[in-house]
Amino acid sequence: MSDPKPPASVSAGSNFIREIVAADVAANKHHGRVATRFPPEPNGYLHIGHAKSICLNFGLAQEFGGVTNLRFDDTNPTTESEEYAQSIREAVQWLGFQWSGEVRNASDYFEQLYAWAIQLIKQGDAYVCSLNETEMREYRGTVMEAGRLSPYASRTVEENLDLFARMKAGEFKDSEHTLRARIDMANANMKMRDPPIYRIRHAHHYRRGNDWVIYPLYDYAHCLSDAIEEITHSICTLEFENNREIYDWLIGKVGFKMPPHQFEFARLNLTYTMMSKRKLNALVQEKKVAGWDDPRLPTILGMRRRGVTAQALKNFCEEIGVAKANSLIDVQRLDAAIRDDLEPSAPRAMAVLNPLTVVIDNYPEAQIETLEPRALPFSRKLFIERDDFAEVAPEGWKRLAPGVEIRLRHAYFIKCVEVKKDASGEITALHCTYDPATRGGDGPDGRKVKGTLHWVSAEHAVDAKVRLYDHLFTVEQPDVVEEGKDWRDYLNPKSLTEISGAKLEPSLANVTTGRTFQFERLGFFCADRESAAGKPVFNRTVALRDNFAKKVEGSDAQAAAAKRAEKKSPSIAVSYEDRLGKLSSEQRAQLELLEKQGLSRDDALALSTDPASHKLFGEAVAAGASAKSAARWLLSELPRVQQEGAPAISGRGLGELAAMVDAGKLSGTSAKEVLEEMVRSGKSASSIVEAKGLRQMSGADALGPLVDEVLGKHPDEVARYKAGNKNLIGFFTGLVIKAAKGQADAKAVRELLVTKL
Ligand code: ATP
Ligand code: MG
Repeated sequence: MSDPKPPASVSAGSNFIREIVAADVAANKHHGRVATRFPPEPNGYLHIGHAKSICLNFGLAQEFGGVTNLRFDDTNPTTESEEYAQSIREAVQWLGFQWSGEVRNASDYFEQLYAWAIQLIKQGDAYVCSLNETEMREYRGTVMEAGRLSPYASRTVEENLDLFARMKAGEFKDSEHTLRARIDMANANMKMRDPPIYRIRHAHHYRRGNDWVIYPLYDYAHCLSDAIEEITHSICTLEFENNREIYDWLIGKVGFKMPPHQFEFARLNLTYTMMSKRKLNALVQEKKVAGWDDPRLPTILGMRRRGVTAQALKNFCEEIGVAKANSLIDVQRLDAAIRDDLEPSAPRAMAVLNPLTVVIDNYPEAQIETLEPRALPFSRKLFIERDDFAEVAPEGWKRLAPGVEIRLRHAYFIKCVEVKKDASGEITALHCTYDPATRGGDGPDGRKVKGTLHWVSAEHAVDAKVRLYDHLFTVEQPDVVEEGKDWRDYLNPKSLTEISGAKLEPSLANVTTGRTFQFERLGFFCADRESAAGKPVFNRTVALRDNFAKKVEGSDAQAAAAKRAEKKSPSIAVSYEDRLGKLSSEQRAQLELLEKQGLSRDDALALSTDPASHKLFGEAVAAGASAKSAARWLLSELPRVQQEGAPAISGRGLGELAAMVDAGKLSGTSAKEVLEEMVRSGKSASSIVEAKGLRQMSGADALGPLVDEVLGKHPDEVARYKAGNKNLIGFFTGLVIKAAKGQADAKAVRELLVTKL
């Protein structure tokens, strides 16, 4: 059977490794079986690069009905530990993957690997070399010139067997001898110049104790472990490209009939991010960060503590795809994936990071109101964000200033009437008046305001510690170090801002660790493990897309963004009870129905009181969207992109889009792009998806003919499948995906095949 070559060009969104696997399955290579492995060395904590490798390995096996092993490449006793192994197992499971059977360990194969080394010596394919490290390097030659044969290469088989046995018995010191594969000292690939395969290490191994003093090297242990486990596709990163020749050579010499194959992909590199395990370790050991779970690190632990979910990481890995050439991914794409994931699920809350006191002069002294949607206490004395006030308002300012009226989110319009300062000129408080008639909406006279601010009631606020993060490094590629510099010189001294006097709305007083909220206008924040009852600590996971707090307002884009945000969250400060009271019995029934379908109170209320929206919602659901996602796209996403005078979007069109997202055919990010285009051009979602090449074929309509064609061409296999050989499903799936030129969703293909068969 010929070796399938990766296609010359890889279309965007497809994945060349997946195509290779599909082709192999189609060609019935390995009897249509797919087995991958994730082989970390337990010498550190996993980071987002490993997450990519995990998603790729486990994802492929899942798609093709195969298995994935978790194997510890524990062949270096001096750097590895159970602590690391434990954390790696937890990280894989947290990402939502489960390995096949027990965890594997290269160290469990030491006996077998040793036996094969003896076989190689007997075959004349390995010899004991006694050059020291420096000499060995000299003998190896350079890229330009061939190496020289070791003077020890002429040892007889008997001598080699004797020396190797004595190496194992512990008769020699570290590095006194090594076992080398006898390949070719003149090979253009320097890795093939008689690579060492065993070395002496008198060290305690965390699993094997002091059983062994010789340890196999990576090149030897890795390929043979793959072969032992009957791995079919051994996927690794590009730096191992030159090792593939040794991989194949050793597998061949030991004599496997069904050899695994190695395929390389580009490792993930992110801007402003350090991904080297060694350097991450240095950051932790040198206390440049607070530990392996410091939220500034790209470790799985750090990102978890920061509030990033497993789903967000998986979506990100899927979105960036798998490349054949190394590249640098903009870390903002990770931020975008995190936002997309949190936006629909994170409850809203209000928090003031840098409080400025506001006293509402005409608000009754002892009065406390409870405002919807979260029983928000409102009183005479409040806090607003210090940045939201300007004594001299710059042009286009949409926030508070002397004489200016703004809206307090979920509450009233207030107007600033006086600025109080201390002796040094520092502003200590603002005096304002409020308009009682503006509760929950615009002024009764139709008066509008430009801005909406977040706030908390001073007397009810909970004190909190809040941590804001910036990139850990100041340069895009901290790995690329200028002459005379150290990579540590690029550490960002402002990567962490800790705010101890933040004020939160009272509902957050006893928050559970790990819960994430959207603090209005500030971003997503996750409750840290250091939170205690009444003393919450929050870490900012990611800021909002339009960073209101930081940017200077006034630009058109800003104004548009603010307007969209305003529309998106219409003030509903009138209490839920009040509004319920005003509903007709029909509206009430509608509302209950919507809540039963899983819609939030706000969304259900918005729809049941607005016939136009409700009609669109109904059309969207009729077009195949789930109720929740129809509501999300209609009430949250559409208002963000809608423009005055633009063609109206039909409920059907919106439903079509939402249904694609529901079915996993379109990522949230792509869907937003499509929605924007729909608003701009009035075209349908499907035609935009088609034109942009975003679509995955998955409907029975699109795939049906391909499935029929494949089944028609393979009557024998169909008969075998029907006779009980269910493994053939992978074979058929591969062929259909191939016929769809990689544009089909494997899960959908499999489901359709099962139905048709
Ligand atoms: P080391 O320098 O210790 O070898 P490593 O990051 O390569 O560190 P391993 O434990 O050997 O760590 O990696 C396990 C698997 O994860 C390997 O298959 C490796 O290719 C893959 N991997 C590591 N870093 C990345 C990355 N940045 N992107 C994609 N895959 C990665
Ligand atoms: Mg490695």
